[in-house]
Amino acid sequence: MPTYKGSCHCGDIRIELERPEPIDRLLECDCSICTKKGIVHTPAENHEIRMTQGADKLALYRFGTGEARHEFCPRCGIHVLGRPRSHPERQTVNARCLEDYWDLRRRLTVVQFDGQNHPKDQAE
Ligand SMILES: [Zn+2]
Repeated sequence: MPTYKGSCHCGDIRIELERPEPIDRLLECDCSICTKKGIVHTPAENHEIRMTQGADKLALYRFGTGEARHEFCPRCGIHVLGRPRSHPERQTVNARCLEDYWDLRRRLTVVQFDGQNHPKDQAE
């Protein structure tokens, strides 16, 4: 099982992502916050993510419906992972925080995710 290590910039927050298969999806979401943060998402199931350091330090930002969780390191400000509105039962890891980011980025095409026309926004 491929294991990916990642962290925020300062290293206070560290994660491991253990996947049954190599990462094959990189998503760029066009919603307001993902655009400004420059996140490249890779979806992950809860059990695939291990917080190896700093789980208690993560800061949380919420806006709009408040459903999505945007978690970040309060020291360096880097967004490591979050819980999207589209799939609140799982998480997305910021692939840019993974040690293998540029290897993944060279191999995979980043797919645009439509975060501007979210069905939960339409229902409001
Ligand atoms: Zn940090």
